[in-house]
Amino acid sequence: MGATVGIDLGTTNCAVARIDEFGKPEIVRNSLNEPTTPSVICFHDGEVAVGQNAQELQATGAGEVAAFFKRSLGDPNFLFFGGGVDHSPTDLSSILLSHLKREAEATLGTTITDAVITVPAYFRNPEREATLEAGRRAGLNVLQIINEPTAAAIAYGGRQTSNRTQRIIVYDLGGGTFDVTLMEQGPEGIKVLASDGDHELGGKDWDDRLVDFLSTAFEREFGECPMDDPISAFDFGVKAEDAKKHLTSVGEARVTVLHGGNRGRYSITRQDFEEMSRDLMERTIMLTDRVIDGQGISPEQVDGVLLVGGSTRMPMVRNYITSRFGKPPMGGVDVDQAVAFGASMMAAEKTLSLQPRRTGLAGPLRVTDVTTHSLGMIAVNQDMSAYTNSIILAKNNPIPSSETR
Ligand code: AMP
Repeated sequence: MGATVGIDLGTTNCAVARIDEFGKPEIVRNSLNEPTTPSVICFHDGEVAVGQNAQELQATGAGEVAAFFKRSLGDPNFLFFGGGVDHSPTDLSSILLSHLKREAEATLGTTITDAVITVPAYFRNPEREATLEAGRRAGLNVLQIINEPTAAAIAYGGRQTSNRTQRIIVYDLGGGTFDVTLMEQGPEGIKVLASDGDHELGGKDWDDRLVDFLSTAFEREFGECPMDDPISAFDFGVKAEDAKKHLTSVGEARVTVLHGGNRGRYSITRQDFEEMSRDLMERTIMLTDRVIDGQGISPEQVDGVLLVGGSTRMPMVRNYITSRFGKPPMGGVDVDQAVAFGASMMAAEKTLSLQPRRTGLAGPLRVTDVTTHSLGMIAVNQDMSAYTNSIILAKNNPIPSSETR
């Protein structure tokens, strides 16, 4: 039998992890020795580049570049034209997964046969089926599709020594999606109580605010809009993201942008950046409050907040969590690695169940998830004049559950 891995198939970045010979999860680095691989594909000159290579081609304006396609998984109307053919989001995800598998196999020096793949908690059935299909087409035996926040909690739980049941929030802000989950974690396992999210909200939206700021300043100075030129627009995007990351550690960032032979130099403070993205932050706050309120609990009754996703490095996120919950976020798990770690622990749990336990977990792994959408039927009223949505299983019902009506 080949190796078993956990795959965090992210909107912007992916990570692969496995359980090492000491029972600890570890990231399987790609051929560039990077722990994560950008979820970007570039069709260029009859070749298909994936990850960092695709991003480099994108910077030169070469080829057809597919990114953020996870947002369209399960959508039958989305097609990406690249290399002379149409690709569905499932096709693109399978190209990405094949690449991750190949690179991880080269690093480990062994074939990878089985995987647990993660998806956002709010994915409905079509998106989950599409992920499963993409995994199969990549030659993987997909042991299970698990929710990203659940995987993160597993990674955290594997390091927990306390026997007490804790109520935790997983606040996951990645590059393209936001996910918030309330769960109970204790000796009995992990029980998801409620989940919510917005798959059109992520670090990219914060970048776009900085792109607006830079392009407006540039246009004011030189009378030319750089956004009309795709190469300049891409370059402004890269500079904006760099400035954003810079503002995580310093109070002020200086940015130099080029377009049409002109060079603009601008400076932006962390305070300005927080001001221009306040409404984005508030959307995450509203969704977090909705999850807590929906369970009838107050922020004080939450034992800890686990941060997941690269965008949670922004100081505004940490500050919000600390002020809202009266304590800083929980530490101990890397925000980029937690999901892949949890997936690898789940994968090992599934394949090693007949062997001595070497999953990195303190005890058996029991996970209870919830439905993240209401499920029901469209019904027609008695005089046949109107349709109503008849909910049979409400949102946040434990899985499995059944109801007959
Ligand atoms: P993920 O989807 O979890 O890989 O997160 C990717 C997002 O995290 C991108 O939008 C990145 O720009 C963002 N990110 C990564 N590092 C930082 C940082 N140091 N400060 C702010 N955002 C970051």
